[in-house]
Amino acid sequence: MSGTLLTGPEPQRSARMVQSVDPVTGTVWREYEAAGAAEVGAALERARATQPTWAALPVAARADALGRFHAALVRRRHDVAEVLTRETGKPTADAMSSEILPTLDFARFVAREAVRLQHAPWRRAASLSMFRKRVRIEHVPLGVVCVISPWNYPFLLAAGVVLPALVTGNAVVFKPSELTPTSGVVLGELLAEAGLPDGLLRVLPGDGATGAALTSSPVDKVFFTGSVATGRKVALSCAALGIACSLELGGNDAAIVLADANLATAARGIAWGRFTNAGQSCVAPKRVFVVDAVYDRFMAALRTEVEAPAPIGDGGAASQPLIRRTQADVLEAQLADALALGAHVVARASDRAASGASFPPTVLADTTPAMRVMREETFGPLLPVVRVRDADDAIARANASEFGLSASIWTKDLARGIAVADRIDAGTICINDVMVGAGMADVPHGGVKGSGRGRSHGVAGLMECVRTKTIVAERWSGWRQPWWSGGSAEKARGLDAFAQLAHGPSLLARARGVAGTIRMLRR
Ligand code: NDP
Repeated sequence: MSGTLLTGPEPQRSARMVQSVDPVTGTVWREYEAAGAAEVGAALERARATQPTWAALPVAARADALGRFHAALVRRRHDVAEVLTRETGKPTADAMSSEILPTLDFARFVAREAVRLQHAPWRRAASLSMFRKRVRIEHVPLGVVCVISPWNYPFLLAAGVVLPALVTGNAVVFKPSELTPTSGVVLGELLAEAGLPDGLLRVLPGDGATGAALTSSPVDKVFFTGSVATGRKVALSCAALGIACSLELGGNDAAIVLADANLATAARGIAWGRFTNAGQSCVAPKRVFVVDAVYDRFMAALRTEVEAPAPIGDGGAASQPLIRRTQADVLEAQLADALALGAHVVARASDRAASGASFPPTVLADTTPAMRVMREETFGPLLPVVRVRDADDAIARANASEFGLSASIWTKDLARGIAVADRIDAGTICINDVMVGAGMADVPHGGVKGSGRGRSHGVAGLMECVRTKTIVAERWSGWRQPWWSGGSAEKARGLDAFAQLAHGPSLLARARGVAGTIRMLRR
């Protein structure tokens, strides 16, 4: 691409192309040659050659580069929003609130925290037997890492891994989803503008085959965000090569509405969480459990939310369509399965997406655990609501899932909300809000069970990009450790005396070990 973000040279055709299709109009507005094995190999080689110089810079210099990226993103935020709207169909307001603003926060956070994390002072060793030692624990980069990201939040989810990887001193080869290549290319452009050395970050538009070529290459770590099915393939491929991987996978998140919840707020929050981004959010509430005492009133409030006229979005999207027709087909099949097994549609919006693939926001009641909508991730605006006896029943049902990405709890009693949160198996639990943790720079994001392993965001996300390297220095170069020479009875007595000195239960017991320890050290 060249010129402004929205006008570039005519794309060159090749055997394998990835197309960026505007989901609103269905027209191809960008095309890229899909990177093959040769391009993957060349990108990795270049990254490998560039990384040591980058890693040798002081972390503050790398953090400065992120500062320049931050400034460039502030400057070009409208262009970036336009690309995101064009490529995903999301309204400009959502592009700004759910991708650009969190990325700006995130760039600032990781720049600051990387400087703290990678500051490695010398310190004393903790144990008495090592009292002469000085220890330095460094957090050093992994080397060359690969980042593979999905299409639903294509800018934030990529930046959430690429920025911490770079600032900690790694080189990155990044493959955006084939559905949203331009969002990835734009991220690369902004980082190039920030003055990254050539070859340090390579954005490779491509398809599944490009991703597979990357994950079967000798990289130092793979950061994958996407579906469970692909995540498992990636994990297998990494295991075969002995490569570490971080997996951010799908979810089937529960929302629990307790008897004392503010029902209007809960209905608004849950409806927003489920239907924003056309329901295509990993951390959307996908199963709602409402205690019997307030079920009917909650459903009335939810129906009002679902059936209210949708605000008209700008940026060309009257209302956000699904990314592709195939997404709607999966949702139709999941809905048909639920209806055939006895579920009922209790609220449905009038078909909102003016164009593109649409599926109207739909609420289901009378669902059972056997239905696909309860067992599988639904990646669109389809929401089953279940009447439960009480909080214990809600918790048991929420946890009866192979996923565990995030969850939300709705109650006026914060202490009760925290007590329920403590019993939910998920990576992040929000109380009286939904999804928000995934956009907070300082909050680790990631799942348990089938939702993956590893964390992005927060200091935990930075830690995923480094390994510890420790230097243990003996200050007295002539010192010979007592345990270096044989295992005589005398030595055993000396060590026993030292055990008393270091670990005796009382001052007197410790004092009894002093003489024996000194004798041992003198020998
Ligand atoms: P996919 O798993 O289909 O794709 C994810 C990425 O993997 C894409 O870049 C894709 O490339 C690539 N890929 C495809 N095949 C392979 C392969 N064999 N080896 C390596 N990479 C490959 O997921 P979606 O893009 O459809 O994203 C939606 C899913 O992501 C949902 O399940 C959602 O819950 C999950 N997700 C999880 C998040 C989390 O933080 N836990 C956040 C956001 C989404 P290509 O597109 O070119 O085929």
